[in-house]
Amino acid sequence: MKKQSLKILLALICPLINNAQNKLIPLLNSNKNAPVLIYLDFDGEPLTDTTFFDNLGKALPEKEEKELKIKNKNLSVSPSSFNTNQIKQIWERVKEDYCIFNINVTTDRKLFDKHPDNKKVLAMIGTEVNLFIGGKPFPLFESGRASIDGYGNIRSSYCWSLYKGDPILAATSITHEIGHVFGLLHNGTINPDREYFKGFANYKPIMGRGINIKRVMQWGNSEYDNANRQQDDINVILKNNNIKLIKDDYPNTLSSALELFFESDKAEIKGIIHQRNDFDFFKIFVPENVILNIEASGPKKYGNLDIQLDLFKSNKELMESADPKDKHSANITTKIETAGYYYVKIDGVGKGNPAVNGYSDYGSLGQYTLKIDFRMNEEMTLSSNTHMPLKSLQNEGKDVLTIHREEKELTIKGKTNYIKLYDLSGKRIGFSKGQLLHLDTINADAYILVYETSTTNKVMIKKILLK
Ligand SMILES: [Zn+2]
Repeated sequence: MKKQSLKILLALICPLINNAQNKLIPLLNSNKNAPVLIYLDFDGEPLTDTTFFDNLGKALPEKEEKELKIKNKNLSVSPSSFNTNQIKQIWERVKEDYCIFNINVTTDRKLFDKHPDNKKVLAMIGTEVNLFIGGKPFPLFESGRASIDGYGNIRSSYCWSLYKGDPILAATSITHEIGHVFGLLHNGTINPDREYFKGFANYKPIMGRGINIKRVMQWGNSEYDNANRQQDDINVILKNNNIKLIKDDYPNTLSSALELFFESDKAEIKGIIHQRNDFDFFKIFVPENVILNIEASGPKKYGNLDIQLDLFKSNKELMESADPKDKHSANITTKIETAGYYYVKIDGVGKGNPAVNGYSDYGSLGQYTLKIDFRMNEEMTLSSNTHMPLKSLQNEGKDVLTIHREEKELTIKGKTNYIKLYDLSGKRIGFSKGQLLHLDTINADAYILVYETSTTNKVMIKKILLK
């Protein structure tokens, strides 16, 4: 009896343990159907089927490699010590670096196994490599290693990073190592003679020193003084490996801008600035007398894209521009007096002088989320028993609303699709799908009226004061 219950208990515990282990690594894909795959491996990996390389990332001669593998039967990268959240952070950071390319950064092992051998990279994030030479641990001076230019062959298309504490450090390091696999060399300096360029106050190139974290970390084009080599990172990744950039997501000119529609009084869209001459243009219809708020944000702390946000008037004249100094986001809040179309432009920009203290727009590329909302700015006062025609929304003049108050009753008429009435606490107290909204009893002195035109989804908001 006792034995049996112990068995049941074990049976109950074991699936839980297994489950917990499986759940540790979330399944993440940055660009699911892309032809090239970077697999971030967190659960350890044997190195028996891979070629081995020396301290400079060059493949060892076959004989040496054989001897090394005979001496190190369990040659492997150990599993990482990062938890689920930290794994997500690492994936997010690597995803930002590779989002401009037609590459999927994934944690899905099954996808990696299925993918063509010559179009994938195995990027291991672990804690150590079990490698002994002459009875001593292999000297790992730095914790990241890669088989340089190894992409295209499953035996050499791999790298590892062995950072334990900070997930951003691990991400920064593995991104750099993957860069090597695609054929990139280090960004160093000739005077002083240094293998790794440290960057400036808030900036460093990805192929510079791997272990320091800066707010802006980008692909580089050797634009700093005393660069040890001329290397156009993005071009090397593309040309050396027959990899493509992603397709442009949004129009590049004001006159072809994509119209965004407001749901209630908010609009939101995600995008990617994928090359230095990529601009994303959007147009919005904004009602009169509102406070318009536009926010374009990149990654919160560390990222590649430095956003400049511009707002243009209906007549296409620049109205406002925002490019905050120490943030990956930009924000414009402004009063709109005239209803009409307005244009929003998103661009990746540089900062300072790339030779001595900053960076150009070369690597200022990455993901953003654009959020736009507006709130009414004006109170509309109605005395009792008055008809109040609101200004026409469109040129045709068919969206005129009338508001009529009779003692304790309120009637709102208009050729609109929806009329919604809220009290000032935000509670909806009236809704009409047709042309008329009638309230038998008015309980408050002021209401907020929201209406949408019949042909589009443009929303107008008004505050009605009844006293
Ligand atoms: Zn390196």
